Amino acid sequence: MALVVQKFGGTSVGTVERIQNVAHRVIATKRQGNQVIVVVSAMSGDTDRLLNLARQIDDRPERNERELDVLLASGEQVTIALLALAIESQGEKARSLLGHQVAIRTDRDHTRARILEIDKQRVQSALDEGRIVVVAGFQGVDEEGDLTTLGRGGSDTSAVAVAAGLRADVCDIFTDVDGIYTTDPNLCRTARKLDRISYDEMLELASLGAKVLQIRSVEFAKKYGIPIHVRSSFSDAEGTLVCREDEAMEKAIVSGVAYNKNEAKITMIGVPDRPGIAAQVFSAIAGKGIVVDMIIQNVSEEGLTDLTFTVPKDDFQRSMAIVHNLCTEIGAKDAVGDERIAKISIVGIGMRTHARVASRMFEALARENVNIMMISTSEIKISCVIAEKYTELAVRVLHDEFQLDRSAEEREYI
Ligand code: ASP
Ligand code: MG
Repeated sequence: MALVVQKFGGTSVGTVERIQNVAHRVIATKRQGNQVIVVVSAMSGDTDRLLNLARQIDDRPERNERELDVLLASGEQVTIALLALAIESQGEKARSLLGHQVAIRTDRDHTRARILEIDKQRVQSALDEGRIVVVAGFQGVDEEGDLTTLGRGGSDTSAVAVAAGLRADVCDIFTDVDGIYTTDPNLCRTARKLDRISYDEMLELASLGAKVLQIRSVEFAKKYGIPIHVRSSFSDAEGTLVCREDEAMEKAIVSGVAYNKNEAKITMIGVPDRPGIAAQVFSAIAGKGIVVDMIIQNVSEEGLTDLTFTVPKDDFQRSMAIVHNLCTEIGAKDAVGDERIAKISIVGIGMRTHARVASRMFEALARENVNIMMISTSEIKISCVIAEKYTELAVRVLHDEFQLDRSAEEREYI
């Protein structure tokens, strides 16, 4: 008998009919001879609706994170109860459990808490009674007994953590797409669903803006070696397995193309080149809770250098204000910003051992006259910042260049 964790996202439980459909699916899994734990999100749009209510009272409800968590966690309370009712009305025994009832223990970092530990006992005894256990995603409890939430999209992490805590055989994440694609199918007709992808590639893709899985859930899965099967809640088709690297994967040099239009670029011009300046600039920005992504500093000429970096678009205006102040403080000449940029990236574990991947990427962009403004690389990723208007073009060109429409075995390059 296998232990299966199945997670259903907001769209999959967005209506009563869909909840009944989920009940049907998990019952089928149980009747195949498995023990089943289901983790659910709030009904689609519900968390946003709750957040909106709070904003009508306080324009920055984040300042009262404890109460915000109490509010936001309520969406999942609705879906676990409805799903448990649906399962019982279809003839199987169920038991709904909130985060604190499980208990899913977290740190005290409200609205982005980290899971520390999962108590097995209560879930295990409900399973032993032959019940389908329905767990509220996205929420936990801290050492004070206060409710916490895990950050937007956190139900993915709840599911993987429960799977790790109870040593499940597999963690199915049912969602509104049928797997992980080589790139966004909305931008590129020839995007192809991947059968498998490694944890590391998935982490890069998720951090680059592919929103199918919360990044923390992938980190968790990697740490505990839990395979995640991302699949559609509306069909029975196999999805994508996110798992450890294997030999088949090594054949793929590039696995996917990702893009992110949510960053803006800032350049400080004529920055004095002396020890401590970068520290001063980036601690001023980090001090406001702004997360900097790419950073480039030029070699200096006559003691002055240029410093370019990217920040989330939402933080652009605030960042510009900070940077203008900094210019005066440190005696830099000026600062300019550009919000109309996109970051376009190729990701693949095979890059570690193959030369010429970067040059091919740059050549492909050059052939289309796409100018590269910034470049950054990691072991398994190359990112370029380009003008936003070329995003779609660049995605298609790179997808073609690395023949991602074909399976790794069928690609003709190297
Ligand atoms: N309901 C939460 C959200 O909308 C958690 C989740 O769906 O994973 O972010
Ligand atoms: Mg999600």
